[in-house]
Amino acid sequence: MILGKKVLITGGTSGIGKDIAKYFASHGANVAIFGTNSERGEEAVREIEANRVGSDQKVFFINVDVSKAAPVEAAINKILVEFGAIDILINNAGIVRDSLLVRMKEEDWDKVIEVNLKSVYNTCRIVAKAMMKARSGKIINITSIIGLIGNPGQVNYAASKAGMIGFSKSLAKELASRGICVNCIAPGFIETPMTDVLNETMKTSLLEEIPLGRMGKTLDIAKAALFLASDMSDYVTGEVITVAGGMGMA
Ligand code: NAP
Repeated sequence: MILGKKVLITGGTSGIGKDIAKYFASHGANVAIFGTNSERGEEAVREIEANRVGSDQKVFFINVDVSKAAPVEAAINKILVEFGAIDILINNAGIVRDSLLVRMKEEDWDKVIEVNLKSVYNTCRIVAKAMMKARSGKIINITSIIGLIGNPGQVNYAASKAGMIGFSKSLAKELASRGICVNCIAPGFIETPMTDVLNETMKTSLLEEIPLGRMGKTLDIAKAALFLASDMSDYVTGEVITVAGGMGMA
């Protein structure tokens, strides 16, 4: 399905991004990951390499802040030299800076919008040009159920994630004639370092809102990403696939 494909995953040093990278390596892909923590990045490379099915599969990490346009462009150009192409781009890097709106600091609004949303502009702008020349490609943006249903204490995060959806639908329309598909995955509550900070009371009340009665696993997201990255989804573009155990269903 994705054997030999060249994949870039932002935020591939932890949680969902790292496990998508491992899963894609186990299906024969070459994988480049972005993150800002070199120690975690090098450890992630070792874990991804351990999942390869062929010794010729390349895996590497670039330390780059996805919110900064010029360094992102330079990092993507490095990958294009190393891989010769980027077939699949997964925008997964994301942060939270939670507080109620009336107490939210301007820097926490700006930081979340820059890391979660501006980053998608930074990567897509460069990668889309290479995909347009190749007349094929898959772009997958990891948004959130919160971008669809909202959550108190997360106006910045919800706005960034809803923004990703509008961005993706517009880009899907821009790139469809070139054979490039752009879709989103909206995870619900997934067991990762991002949700480890929730206390037991919060987790118990969240579970009451999840019809399938459990938090999601990173593999649940990786499987949806494999579908959207492969030719199984060649007639799917501009969509949001919610992977949330039924949470927020209409
Ligand atoms: P995580 O474990 O905290 O991982 C976040 C990743 O983003 C890390 O690899 C981190 O790398 C990277 N990152 C953060 N800021 C960055 C920056 N400025 N430049 C480059 N990379 C940066 O979180 P996760 O739970 O796996 O979340 C992954 C994505 O899924 C996020 O977009 C999140 O919003 C979304 N999501 C998660 C859940 C959930 O329940 N976990 C639910 C819905 C949506 P470094 O630490 O190396 O910088």
